[in-house]
Amino acid sequence: MAKPKVAFYWCASCGGCEETIVDLAEDILKVVEAVDIVLWPVALDFKLKDVKAWKPGEVAVAFINGAVRLSEQEEWVKLLREKCSLVVAFGSCAHLGGIPGLANATTRDEIIANKYLRAPTVNNPEGTVPQEKSKVNGFELELPNFWKDVKALDEVIDVDYYLPGCPPPFETVATAVNAILENKLPPKGSVIAPEKALCETCPRNESKPDDLTITSFKRLATSTPDPEKCFLADGFLCMGPATRGGCGERCINGNMPCRGCFGPTPDVLDAGLKMLSAVASRGAADTEQASQDFADSLVDPLGTLYRFSLPVSMLRRRLVPTGDNQ
Ligand code: SF4
Ligand code: SF4
Repeated sequence: MAKPKVAFYWCASCGGCEETIVDLAEDILKVVEAVDIVLWPVALDFKLKDVKAWKPGEVAVAFINGAVRLSEQEEWVKLLREKCSLVVAFGSCAHLGGIPGLANATTRDEIIANKYLRAPTVNNPEGTVPQEKSKVNGFELELPNFWKDVKALDEVIDVDYYLPGCPPPFETVATAVNAILENKLPPKGSVIAPEKALCETCPRNESKPDDLTITSFKRLATSTPDPEKCFLADGFLCMGPATRGGCGERCINGNMPCRGCFGPTPDVLDAGLKMLSAVASRGAADTEQASQDFADSLVDPLGTLYRFSLPVSMLRRRLVPTGDNQ
C-alpha cells in the first residue's frame, strides 16, 4: 500500500520548528518508514514546480511553520492548502504569529530604514533599499511584496489543526503524526495540547499563595529566580496562568518563567490582557506613585505579555499615522 505523503514548509520563522523534526533523531527513520516526505526545504531539494505538479489532495498533510509576511509565502501556503488534505499550523509563529509577529509593533518603513539605512554596520551611502521591481544589467528582477503586517497562518489559509510551542515538543509531533496515520483525528480546529493552564501541572504551583500580592516586578537580567518558588510569588512575570499546558514545563524546569509560547487556554480570548488583568488585581500599590512604580517595574510589557501572540491578539498591531506604513 502506498505510504501517505507528508510535506513540511517554513515561512517567517527561525528554523527551530525544523529542529523538532531533527530532535526525533533515529525515530525519524520510523517516520520515513511510515510516510513519504515529499517537501522539506530545510533538508531536501524540492522546487515550486514539483509542488505545482501534485494533484489536489494528493498529499495527506502539510506541517507549515512560521508566520506569513511575504507574497511568496502566501503563494506557497495557498498552493499547499490546495494540494494537501490537511494543514497543520506547526509551532507558535504559524499558530499565533510568534516572535516575528512582534514586528507589528512597528512599521514596514521603520523596519526597512533600520535594516538598510540606520544599522551601525550598514555602509549604504546611496541609501539603496529593496524594491519589488528593479533592473540590473538589462535584467528585470522581482522581489516578493513585504506586507505591512505579520499574519498567523489561519489569517491567510484555512487550517485544520494547530501544534503549539516554540518549538513544539517532539512528543506532540509524534502524537499528531500517529493520529493522522491511524485516522484518529480530533475535531477540526483543535489545538493538539491540553486545555488546562500550565500552572495546573507546574511543579512550583504549591508555592503560589492564594493571597498572592505583587509589589514590583524583578528582571531576569538583574535577579536570579528562587528555583523552588512560583515565579509570580517571587516577583517575576510568568504567563503560566494564561497559557496552555503540555510543553513539559520546559522553561520552568530551566528556571525561566513561562512566556506563553503554547498560546492561551480555550477560555482566554487574549492572553496578554488576561495576564495584565491578573497582575493588576494582585498589585499591592496604595498610592498613585506606588501604582506608577509598579507599572514601570514591568519593563517591555508588550514584548512580555504578547511575545508570541501579538498578530492574533485584540491589539493585533500598533496603530500608526496614515501613510506611515505604506
Ligand atoms: S505562575 Fe508560573 S511558576 Fe507559578 S505556578 Fe504558574 S506556571 Fe508555575
Ligand atoms: S514554559 Fe511557557 S514559554 Fe516555555 S515552553 Fe512551556 S508554554 Fe512555552
